Amino acid sequence: MLTATCHCRAIKVEVPREPESVTDCNCSICRRYGVLWAYYGDVEVTLTAADDATDEYVWGDKTQKFIRCKHCGCVMQWKKFAIDAETWTGVNARNFEPSIIGKVPVRLLDGADTWEYL
Ligand SMILES: [Zn+2]
Repeated sequence: MLTATCHCRAIKVEVPREPESVTDCNCSICRRYGVLWAYYGDVEVTLTAADDATDEYVWGDKTQKFIRCKHCGCVMQWKKFAIDAETWTGVNARNFEPSIIGKVPVRLLDGADTWEYL
């Protein structure tokens, strides 16, 4: 079990294992957030937050939400609204300690155009 926290530690996200890689996506939202996504099954990830600590951003076709800390602003996770056993989620790997995530390879995803890895 690995734990990511926001800067003020009001939110923690627990995942079962180190990711094999993390994704740097250039789509309109990810490039602005500057996040690195580690992907897991939605059911594998547990987000725990202090009362009233989370804020969410939803836009467009409203299929997913981005969860961030209301206090310190760190982006924690994206989640789909429709969740079943196959649903994936993205956890912002920037919120892990560098000792955990520092050696994991970064893959560049062309989310802005082709949805292929570069
Ligand atoms: Zn915070």
